[in-house]
Amino acid sequence: MKDVKAIFAGTIYTPSEEIRDGVILVEGHRIAKVGPREQVKIPAGATAIDYQDRTVVPGFIDIHIHGAVGHDLMEATPEAVSAIGKYLARHGTTSYAATTVAASLERTLNAAKSLGEIIKTSNVARVGSDKITGAQPVGIHLEGPFLNVKRRGAHPASQIQKPSTELLEKMLEAAGGTACILTLAPELEGALEVLEFARSRGLQVGIGHSNATYEEAKSAIDAGATHAVHCFNAMRPFMHRDTGIIGAVLTDDRVSAELICDGIHVEPAAIRLLVRAKGIERVILVSDSLSGAGMPDGNYRLGNFTVHVAGGVCRTVEGNLAGSTIMLDAALRNLSAYTGLSYRECLPCVTTSPARTLGLENQKGVIAPRADADLAVLDQQFYVTQTYVRGRPVL
Ligand SMILES: [Zn+2]
Repeated sequence: MKDVKAIFAGTIYTPSEEIRDGVILVEGHRIAKVGPREQVKIPAGATAIDYQDRTVVPGFIDIHIHGAVGHDLMEATPEAVSAIGKYLARHGTTSYAATTVAASLERTLNAAKSLGEIIKTSNVARVGSDKITGAQPVGIHLEGPFLNVKRRGAHPASQIQKPSTELLEKMLEAAGGTACILTLAPELEGALEVLEFARSRGLQVGIGHSNATYEEAKSAIDAGATHAVHCFNAMRPFMHRDTGIIGAVLTDDRVSAELICDGIHVEPAAIRLLVRAKGIERVILVSDSLSGAGMPDGNYRLGNFTVHVAGGVCRTVEGNLAGSTIMLDAALRNLSAYTGLSYRECLPCVTTSPARTLGLENQKGVIAPRADADLAVLDQQFYVTQTYVRGRPVL
């Protein structure tokens, strides 16, 4: 008989529904049923697991993450992916898009190839084996190299490239069909052509690390960009007579917006503005975390260069903010505190919305029949006490 678990919970946020005194029936790696305890028939032989004083929510999805616990995803080894995955799982994250930084062509192609192979052989979500424990990489987010040098943030200027479909083609080929998001600066010469090419290959295109005017950003959205990368950060600043890319992102419903919600990258008032402008369902929390996440203060690698972490804040040697050390569990609690919205109201920002960006909306980010049994178990203060990845407890 298949491994069947009956997970009883004081509260379940699916997240569109709130179920009190509920049960999630898990068969193998999938959810078979969810509902109030009295409405779900528990098959004989099922293992009962009791979280009566806990809240169970879908596992979180991080579509922009570079590394953690001393490892960078550009290392692209099974060891690095496993170490990062275990750390993410401790914070409720169950799947993520492995994110690259601008690097030499050789290094980028090697990373894309190795990550692609890891995703294809270990990613049970799309293939069906069980090699990686902890959070699982479900695709590659190519952050660059077609970025604006003026807004490069921590990406090394020497590795930033002019938009080129040939170069992107090489990267996509190396990734072997696992690339899912491309971030580019739309104002660069040739960027719209690359954008359309990426869309034709099934990628979501994010605009970011950009000095685009309002009109330039609008043209990119018209051409199929659906996403804004770490909104407000590494973007032309918003001015009332020159609203730039931020003006376009805030006022166009076709675009979802990433947010680094650590209280350092973006002020709470700007976070409230973003949520009012976009609606909570178009805000996607990302960690943008680096290898220094989960480590003591010190110097860490981001791709091929060094960043300094002090008090959880990452900066390059020039003093630019460089990614974060926050995880989505804390980002979500922050978002609720900054906006006054309930925890449940904020949950789509780490579940259904990133799943939609990845095209996995029926499989991830939701507690529903046939979805993967990716779950986070939370205490009364919404701290993670257990995480299930495809039906398996991983803490
Ligand atoms: Zn970035």
